[in-house]
Amino acid sequence: MRLSGGKMQQFDVVIVGGAVSGSVLALALSSFCQHKISIAIVEKSLPNYEQQGGFDARSIALAEGSLQKMSQILPLAGENLGEMIQAIATPIQQIQVADKGHFGKTTLKASEQNIRQLGAVVELAKLGKNLTACIEKQPNIHVFCPNEVKSIKRSQQYCELTLKNGEKLSCSLLVAADGIQSQIAKQCGIETVQVRDYKQSAIIANVELNKWHQYQAFEYFTEQGPFALLPLGGNMMSLVWCVKNADELVQLSDNEFLSRLQHQFGWKLGQFLRASKRFVYPLILQKAESHIHHRLAIVGNAAQMLHPVAGQGFNLGLRDLYALAKRVAEAFNQGKDIGDFSLLVEFEKERVQDQSRIINATSGLISVFSCGMLPMQVMRNLGLFAVSHSKTARDFIANRALGW
Ligand SMILES: Cc1cc2nc3c(=O)[nH]c(=O)nc-3n(C[C@H](O)[C@H](O)[C@H](O)COP(=O)(O)OP(=O)(O)OC[C@H]3O[C@@H](n4cnc5c(N)ncnc54)[C@H](O)[C@@H]3O)c2cc1C
Repeated sequence: MRLSGGKMQQFDVVIVGGAVSGSVLALALSSFCQHKISIAIVEKSLPNYEQQGGFDARSIALAEGSLQKMSQILPLAGENLGEMIQAIATPIQQIQVADKGHFGKTTLKASEQNIRQLGAVVELAKLGKNLTACIEKQPNIHVFCPNEVKSIKRSQQYCELTLKNGEKLSCSLLVAADGIQSQIAKQCGIETVQVRDYKQSAIIANVELNKWHQYQAFEYFTEQGPFALLPLGGNMMSLVWCVKNADELVQLSDNEFLSRLQHQFGWKLGQFLRASKRFVYPLILQKAESHIHHRLAIVGNAAQMLHPVAGQGFNLGLRDLYALAKRVAEAFNQGKDIGDFSLLVEFEKERVQDQSRIINATSGLISVFSCGMLPMQVMRNLGLFAVSHSKTARDFIANRALGW
């Protein structure tokens, strides 16, 4: 951190939002600039990994492609983020996809793709603790927490931020990683628009079964929405159950909930023994109207929030922030202006195609699988049947799912 005159604290980059996107971006920037870039993270909530918005009870599935990108991020000599995550994650060796109540189903296997795993599941709370520990070891990253941005002034060369407690920061590049309905984007004149209300909510919980999952993940499409179980340590699994009326399921007693779960999933892994506290996420597709502005880049949920079907949200966000970190590091290492608008334009151009592809694919899956019309039911089941009988089709889908 560089201090000027004891008042305005100068940084190269200020990232607002210190959950998974903000933290990984800070570590990527630091690593790609050989820890010479000065970074501030402004986060409003103190780390309480069970309650903080960004590092809550959710688990996320990281595609193998994402883990490989993480391996390029070196928080300290001899350490890489990919290995650090792998040590706290559970591998996915197989994913079973089915249209519940119909004949269509298919299975993707790591062994068929000749890879060690299709992806890995990590609990956000554990990931948060590890990312925070990595950040604490970086002298070039300064965390302002709990704190918030009160006002932003942008000149041609700098952004100047005043925090709630009166501290003043300046930077060449400001990054909004402050989640859905980004206040930073709004303060800089960028609106977030709701593109689609899925009229579904995701109930998440960790559940224990009496049989081991053997590193299998399950994604079933039901009329109400997708139902997913992801492998965790031991006989635990992470449940994401998308339904039209979450209140009803959340209000059930634990035993009633477990029996509904059993009915929904069946007995493939024996009996559901235990469920943790349930959390509800209303599901909408939201996008910031633009991902850049003068000396501003927007990443993570602040840029786009997707339906959790197929676990694409952070995998996409990671590809975005990785691309941003690479471009900024290149400029920084060459002594160029890291907030230059042309750099930001190139970043936005580079990412737009992948973003539209994933947004269209996730939204399309929900439309196709929630449609009760017979012709659509027949088509989607024939599709799954065809995939289950064609290695080429499975390779194609696995490639997409792997995030390559
Ligand atoms: C049910 C569910 C399941 C999912 N499963 C997967 C999956 O399997 N795979 C996958 O890739 N993705 C998955 N996702 C998506 C993934 O969880 C998100 O992409 C990711 O958590 C977004 O992180 P973020 O850091 O961008 O935003 P957030 O987690 O929203 O974090 C924003 C941070 O900014 C802070 N903040 C907000 N406002 C301010 C402010 N004014 N000043 C300072 N700080 C501020 C907040 O406190 C918070 O810490 C899932 C999402 C859901 C809902």
